[in-house]
Amino acid sequence: MNSSRDQIEEIKNKLDIVDVISKYVQLKQAGKNFIGICPFHTEKTPSFVVSPEIQRYKCFGCGETGDIFNFIQKIENIDFPETLEKLAKEAGVRLEKSISTSRYERIETINKQATIFFYQQLHKPINKEALNYLYKRGITDESIKNFGIGYAPGGYDLLNYIQKEKKYSKEELISSGLFVEKEGKIRGKFVKRIMFPIRSSSGKVIAFTGRVLPGNDFGPKYMNSPETPIYSKKENFYGQYESRQEIRKQDLVILCEGTTDVISAHQIGVKNIVAPLGTALTKEQLQKISKLTKNILFLFDSDIAGQQAVEKGFILAQQFGLRTYAANTLPYKDLDEMIGKEPKKLESIIKKRIDAYTYLLTEYVKDKDINNFEQYSRIVSWIDRILGYVTNESLLSFYVKVGVNITKIGHSKTSPLKAFSSKPKTWKIPPINNIDREHVFLQHLLYQKNISLDKKFELKIFENKNILEILAFVKQNPNCSRNDIVKKFEENRDIKDIIEQSIFTFSLDESNSVELDNIYENLVKEYYKRKERDYNVKIAIAEKTGNQKESEKLLEEFQNLTKEKQKYEQSSQL
Ligand SMILES: [Zn+2]
Repeated sequence: MNSSRDQIEEIKNKLDIVDVISKYVQLKQAGKNFIGICPFHTEKTPSFVVSPEIQRYKCFGCGETGDIFNFIQKIENIDFPETLEKLAKEAGVRLEKSISTSRYERIETINKQATIFFYQQLHKPINKEALNYLYKRGITDESIKNFGIGYAPGGYDLLNYIQKEKKYSKEELISSGLFVEKEGKIRGKFVKRIMFPIRSSSGKVIAFTGRVLPGNDFGPKYMNSPETPIYSKKENFYGQYESRQEIRKQDLVILCEGTTDVISAHQIGVKNIVAPLGTALTKEQLQKISKLTKNILFLFDSDIAGQQAVEKGFILAQQFGLRTYAANTLPYKDLDEMIGKEPKKLESIIKKRIDAYTYLLTEYVKDKDINNFEQYSRIVSWIDRILGYVTNESLLSFYVKVGVNITKIGHSKTSPLKAFSSKPKTWKIPPINNIDREHVFLQHLLYQKNISLDKKFELKIFENKNILEILAFVKQNPNCSRNDIVKKFEENRDIKDIIEQSIFTFSLDESNSVELDNIYENLVKEYYKRKERDYNVKIAIAEKTGNQKESEKLLEEFQNLTKEKQKYEQSSQL
């Protein structure tokens, strides 16, 4: 049977990554690769590299990497089935209703059915405890409806409900994130929990957050759906669908901490608000939100973790050219509590919002004495570090002014404050001499006409475990292609990174074997140097501690090493 994987391969074969990406990014040829300004983060010098040979791209600024499918999905902000459809059309490939697409749809349907089931359960008299809890928290019927809030009683009812119309396989049920297998039986993952559906930007329910009912000490307070084929935690916000229109309209998004913060804010008419899902803010989330607005107001909890989140958010936001603002909920511990006690306050925080840098610096210097040298140095290095992330020049000069105002440290050309004269960081492709010798060896090996390692190359001289694994593969598979190697290590993130780094940064078309031999020779020299140094240290220790036996043994090993080295030197001179 023609699988979806075959279709994906067919599309990949018919389309060239350079053509596909050129529609979005101006690419210039640089050796074997193409290079351009990254569309996924803000930069001035190009660090986005496309390799037509392995049909992949990589950005050395923000780390984005992938094939045409990843690229289109990301840049168009669409899901995988849509990407597949779009690229199939471009490639002229007639898409059969692929297994993968229908699998997506089936998992979506399970989540949709579950939403209906949970909503019905919430309104059953037998579960009135759950509904009462929501009322007690001040959540209205309107919110329950708008956000599709429900209740998971646990047991087998959900399974029976889901299986009533369509039959789903065990694998599909577990993949939906709503079921677990225990002792051979499939049952609901969420037990006695209030269920908050998480909707995708287009409104489909893709996951849930389940809050345990008070008095039920079953698992954590909040439990989220696991990662599933339709849900990736790091790319989604709670409230992204419900708040999307208002975010556009207000041209501002408020980032708060939790599910109930979002709902409470909606109830008082502030509907441009979302929350990350139980994890720290990610760059994927910021990238997504930057398509709706360039203005972000961080409004996290008033504890230390919340404040650290503001700093991290500020740093991440620089990549996407976002304007950041920040506030806290003091004297209340979180937004939900603030809205309950002083509903008007949120409105005024939004109106009088201050930029995140001013906020962070004010908080940072609050309990420090500028006249104390140690504390003064800490402030300076904090400023230096934070401003190092700011790439926008006009923002940078604004922040420098803010810094002078807040710290009251005079700013002149001779100011000791490095930060005030620091240039924004620019990302560049790391030049070859920054990578260590083993990487360079790998690069030259990968750019040989025939990628092979004969007997004379000894693997023991290599230290880097990942490089070693690649070389071992080459040794076992003489004359393999770069594509074979990429494919072999597709699943191993670290090794894949190394291979991509090598391929994307190599500037010549081909390397010759003399070059490879030279690098190898240097590596061998280093290997012996390293070994000799090790033995010297070990022998010295053994002698100092009076361990006669050990020292004799080491000495012998050392002599063997020396012989081996001499033998190598003689043979390499032949
Ligand atoms: Zn980038």
